[in-house]
Amino acid sequence: MHTRESACPLDCPDGCSLSVTVDDDGRLLRVDGDARNPFTAGFVCAKVRGLAKHVHGAERVAQPLLRAGAKGEGRFRVASWDEALDRVATSLLDVRARHGGEAILPLCYGGSNGALTQDCVDARMFRRLGASALARTLCAAPSGSAATALYGKMPGVALPDYEHAKLVILWGCNPSASGIHLVPVLQRARERGATLVVIDPRRTPLAKQADLHLAVRPGTDLPLALALGHALLQRDAVDHAFLQRWTHGLDRYAARASAWSLARAASVCDVPQSDLESLLQRYIAASPAVIRCGWGTERNRNGGSAIAAILALPALAGKFGVRGGGYTMSNSRALPLSTEAAIGEAAPAVRTVNMNQVGRVLTAAPASVHALFVYNCNPWATLPHQSEVHRGLLREDLFTVVFDAVMTDTARFADVVLPATTFLEHDELRTSYGAMALQHARAAMPPVGQARCNAEVFLALCDRMGLSRAGDVREPEALAAAVLAGSALPESARATVREGGVAQAGGVAFVDVFPATADGRIDLHPEALDRECDGGLYEYRDDPGTVAHPLCLITPAIAKQTSSSFGQLDRRKVALRMHPHDAAARALVEGAPIRVFNQLGEVHCRVTIDDALRPGVVMLPKGMWSHHSDNGATANALCPDTLADLGGGATFNDARVQVEAIG
Ligand code: SF4
Repeated sequence: MHTRESACPLDCPDGCSLSVTVDDDGRLLRVDGDARNPFTAGFVCAKVRGLAKHVHGAERVAQPLLRAGAKGEGRFRVASWDEALDRVATSLLDVRARHGGEAILPLCYGGSNGALTQDCVDARMFRRLGASALARTLCAAPSGSAATALYGKMPGVALPDYEHAKLVILWGCNPSASGIHLVPVLQRARERGATLVVIDPRRTPLAKQADLHLAVRPGTDLPLALALGHALLQRDAVDHAFLQRWTHGLDRYAARASAWSLARAASVCDVPQSDLESLLQRYIAASPAVIRCGWGTERNRNGGSAIAAILALPALAGKFGVRGGGYTMSNSRALPLSTEAAIGEAAPAVRTVNMNQVGRVLTAAPASVHALFVYNCNPWATLPHQSEVHRGLLREDLFTVVFDAVMTDTARFADVVLPATTFLEHDELRTSYGAMALQHARAAMPPVGQARCNAEVFLALCDRMGLSRAGDVREPEALAAAVLAGSALPESARATVREGGVAQAGGVAFVDVFPATADGRIDLHPEALDRECDGGLYEYRDDPGTVAHPLCLITPAIAKQTSSSFGQLDRRKVALRMHPHDAAARALVEGAPIRVFNQLGEVHCRVTIDDALRPGVVMLPKGMWSHHSDNGATANALCPDTLADLGGGATFNDARVQVEAIG
């Protein structure tokens, strides 16, 4: 047995450092947490503890495959790497010759990837092909736009510093499922007297323990945040000196917020006004007070404005300047990595495809995409408007490559399936967006079967297509060195990583961390955002519910998966969760077979009656695969491909549905 150090690159804020045990034959035996990252020391989540089932499971793709049946049938024959790479290279060059480079669409997301396996050699290849660019807007696009415009994406409160807070507001996030290492920190904070408030349409595990739970209607976080801001201004509970020194745009923000009294917001959010008053009083009184702003809040038509309004609150109320005070959104700028030097090719001026609308792009006439290269993601399962994505993937004239570690739902539609390594089988450089930790993990085990890592495959394709150039960075260590050298990191962080350690960042906002906006101040009403939002920044757009489809469908993350990753491991069907009142109104009993439907599609499954949801809201988990429902469709069959007010973000939580019994 051998035990090696690694680091988790999954799409999770925590960034665990890992201890990986492998047997003499190179088989993974176990994965544990280790102490190099003190925030995550001691334990890892169940997903990664059980990683051997993923690495060595029956769905693992261990050799290249070529399609041997109709599109979507999932019949393949085994091929050699040479045959598969030749097929891919020939087809991409043929598409470029016949339709131009932009007819090639790379479709990827960062499910389990860091700086060496995404936006690195892959970007070199697609840039040199002149392929379309992809806007990765599935998550964090509206919040990224808002945080960048208001604060220059200033890193927020370090997660370990929550222990110092007297008030913690979890707003649209559920650390029990995503980012579990915050849970013990919150417990310690509460033992020291902190108050916990949860804003979520569900009674999450932490909402059950909270001092106050506001079960707002999905999509109404904007009125809530504006009403709190307006009340702070009305009651003169703002920090005038801070606002004067560190902000601008207050007048325009105040004008928009003035439309929202607590009473009006309570009515729209459908929560008691007394609860809003209680939240306001607690926020005024407590210091340090911190808002942990999650990504559930942004997934609707008002998402970007909502995040901006939430992030304005600590500036208004003067909550910065103390350890544990302020907000946390994404901390990705604390130890930012840039792969530009490793790519070695400037981005060409090409069209950008919003990944939330890939379905409509693939099905548009005349066709503008003739080759689809899918890697690091499973778009059939993760993109909205699933029926359109499905229809696009079925196109016989669309040459599709899927480069993945397991046989995903998307891979069934591929012309060529290339076997990818998992993160334990290749080198990776990863900065975590929550815990502010940067780690360089070397491969902890040999590749399974014939699996190859991204860099190796994209280099080989560049070579075959005549896209490689003298001076290109090629070797893993050289790629890592180029990324580290080209990133705006403190030299101490580079040295720590070079020596195999975990570089950490942190600090206290407005003491040793400051906004990275052009003038170094917080912009409470950024003009660019105001122009981008239809109707203006901070303008509320009404609920899209209709008489035919009145129920709001939410699709939050579950603890067993990272989005769709690991979905092959659990074959059990999922159930729609529904409040007892909504079930009674439809004469549905526990376990009844149902169809959940709207104008976009339908999902067949069972119902679970659950009073942890507020009435009018139903829930299906995010990232499910076709085997998880009775008719092969998942929640995304019901989710629109309309865009949020900022950043081209997804609007999963704007799905409105009806439910009825089957049979
Ligand atoms: S998914 Fe998150 S909690 Fe789980 S091992 Fe990775 S970083 Fe840690």
